[in-house]
Amino acid sequence: MLIVESDEDQCIVDPHLDFTVARTLPSHGKLAAIAAAQLISTSPNLPPIACLIDGDFDAILGTDTYPSGCYPTNYYDLLVEVVVLAPNLLRRVALSAGISSQVLELERQLGVSLSDWLGARSATVGALRLHSQQAGLAIPLRNFPYNGLASVPTAQRFTDKVAAIGSLRSGSLYSTADLSQGIRQVLQTQASDSLMNGHDLLGLLVDLLRSNGISSATTRGILIAAASSISCGIFAQVGIYSNLATWIQSGTSVWSCPNHV
Ligand SMILES: [Zn+2]
Repeated sequence: MLIVESDEDQCIVDPHLDFTVARTLPSHGKLAAIAAAQLISTSPNLPPIACLIDGDFDAILGTDTYPSGCYPTNYYDLLVEVVVLAPNLLRRVALSAGISSQVLELERQLGVSLSDWLGARSATVGALRLHSQQAGLAIPLRNFPYNGLASVPTAQRFTDKVAAIGSLRSGSLYSTADLSQGIRQVLQTQASDSLMNGHDLLGLLVDLLRSNGISSATTRGILIAAASSISCGIFAQVGIYSNLATWIQSGTSVWSCPNHV
């Protein structure tokens, strides 16, 4: 059994899995996945499992210690790890989801490629998340409101808008100006790849495509399209691939790449 945190991970992993060797099971949370790994490690009679968990900001925060059997993603989550390896993955989905001439016109207006825009904007939201954790602010940032964010015109105003959302979410405990400053400091010290988060990438892309009349595709639809187009060559480069190339005890590969039916 390969325990993953979410059904988003299943979307990415399952197309490459050899189901005669292993299946995925979502744990719906990192703590539950880690608890399962701890249980198995102390119960030798239970069948072997491995746990794919989100790396989150653990490496930056110095909290990247896990029980055996847990394999963290190399970046915040598996989608980000794939996007770092294949930077135009989500741009290709946008070109499939909409009319390509509209996407190209949008990129002309943005002044950068859709991939670069997504990476930079996602890193800004991620910088608020990391700043909140590093400074112990504990701002609730789940279900981040992406609606309208894509139409904020410049990187500076986007940072201020994200900070304003953070301030609002904190119940005005922290000011927009202070959070903007915190975000900018994080952006100056951390690589943008390490700040990206799969939910932010998808949420921002959906808002960008909708607000420009290019596509009404949902977050889920974009994820499925992206996941199904990940080549075996790219997937073979993610950390979990080599970690599980020899399945626990059996010595058999858990992957069916590249000979999928
Ligand atoms: Zn494959």
